[in-house]
Amino acid sequence: ASELLFYCRIGFEQDLASELSEKLAARGYSGYPIARSDSGLVRWCHTGQEQLNEVQRAIPLVRLVFARQSLLALAPLEQLSREDRITAIVEYVVASGWSFERLLQETPDTNEARALSGLMRSLQKPLESVLKKRGALRRRAGKRWLHLCWTEGNEVQIALSFPGNRSDHPGGIRHLRFPAGAPSRSTLKLEEAWHTFIAPERWSEVLGEHCWAVDLGAAPGGWSWQLVQRGMSVYAIDNGPMDNALLTTGQIEHLREDAFHWQPPHPVEWLVCDIVEQPSRVAVLMGDWLIAGWCQWAVFNLKLPMKQRWPHVREALDLLEQRLQENRIQAMIRCRHLYHDREEVTVLVEPDSAQQS
Ligand code: SAM
Repeated sequence: ASELLFYCRIGFEQDLASELSEKLAARGYSGYPIARSDSGLVRWCHTGQEQLNEVQRAIPLVRLVFARQSLLALAPLEQLSREDRITAIVEYVVASGWSFERLLQETPDTNEARALSGLMRSLQKPLESVLKKRGALRRRAGKRWLHLCWTEGNEVQIALSFPGNRSDHPGGIRHLRFPAGAPSRSTLKLEEAWHTFIAPERWSEVLGEHCWAVDLGAAPGGWSWQLVQRGMSVYAIDNGPMDNALLTTGQIEHLREDAFHWQPPHPVEWLVCDIVEQPSRVAVLMGDWLIAGWCQWAVFNLKLPMKQRWPHVREALDLLEQRLQENRIQAMIRCRHLYHDREEVTVLVEPDSAQQS
């Protein structure tokens, strides 16, 4: 492998490239990104002497904000023969010396690339069969997966992923079904955040009906709906109207107050916040709540309408982390650009119970 390959949302290539460049430079790795606008991909070409998988491990996917997938890749194969794509791909894979447990064909998340899905379907079985014969696809191959990232009908990049440092979802995208009865599409952001940040076996413990929650900027109630579904009691803070059906559950107290001044009558387990405000202002508000001990967990969006998004995200996260440290709050901060996020990223603050006990 000669480079790292990352997937991202269309239009966020420069943000991911800035994030990668900064994080890799800070760890002493040299290289440069190739980030074509609206391609949904960022390649990072390594120019140093280190093993590429060491470089990839130094920036684990779960710690990256704008990347949906992290792969080790070979240089792209261009101008494949449309009569026989398979031979060239198989030779390239075999020459790499790696073997794999699974073959995933993917495209960037663009409309043009999605038109290649028919091609990918037709190639899947024949490719698997030849790769098996050549010993490149087999059981017990260290859970390595082979990814073919198609950008054109005759252009593909061959890449691999390792367990523990990849998204297990094709394209790095976690599709969720819009739940009937939820008052807004935003609801999927909170649901995806929980799936992304909280292991399923912990859900009943940390997202249970024993929990109280505050939803700042709650209307019309997509996020509150998720909290209510988990059986929680919710203070919904917003001047705007909340969904009526939601209010009839009896689990919601709707207060027409200003989120930047309202104080909860008692501490709660969860604070969630989807207010459209400057990222640093939201970070300060979240810090205030955590430092005051008004909440244990927080999930919030940082809205990013600006051009250069990465510096604003970094600044807001640094600010929050610094304040928590100064106030001896042990917490883990995670931030990702989720599939259901648009011009925004989602942050989770988790109390570090291991250190508190
Ligand atoms: N998460 C909500 C959902 O799933 O339905 C959508 C929230 S919407 C993006 C942002 C909301 O924040 C708006 O309803 C707006 O009225 C509210 N808001 C903005 N500034 C606020 C403030 N200072 N205090 C309370 N609510 C505020």
